[in-house]
Amino acid sequence: MIVDVPDCLFCGIAAGQIPATIVLDGKRTLAFRDINPQAPTHVLVIPRDHYDDVAAVAEAGGGLLDELVSSARAVAEAEGVEDSGYRVVFNTGADGGQTVGHAHAHVLGGRPMTWPPG
Ligand code: AMP
Ligand code: ZN
Repeated sequence: MIVDVPDCLFCGIAAGQIPATIVLDGKRTLAFRDINPQAPTHVLVIPRDHYDDVAAVAEAGGGLLDELVSSARAVAEAEGVEDSGYRVVFNTGADGGQTVGHAHAHVLGGRPMTWPPG
């Protein structure tokens, strides 16, 4: 873990240096709206500290991964999609479609999701 990586977009958002529409502001996690939403609800949940991907968050332990998933559930509740259902996605690595190298969960809801994803 590194607290603040220069040139990391999501570190910049966590530091308040890059604007974002914040949905939930936690001590160790932050949720904000995706700039290019793929569903009526599309929120990203990040650890405030920098981890490259979800595997690094899991490796670090300390309950941070639990907190990310709990925050994703809290986002779903706040967005009113907890009962209708939602999808939590951690794109990981190039083939996983990860384009920002700071761990993040996508919380998608408000419409039926298809499977398999593209
Ligand atoms: P991924 O492709 O899984 O790494 O997801 C990165 C996500 O970050 C994409 O869905 C982008 O639309 C989103 N994104 C990129 N820049 C911003 C930004 N400045 N604010 C909010 N979301 C962003
Ligand atoms: Zn970062």
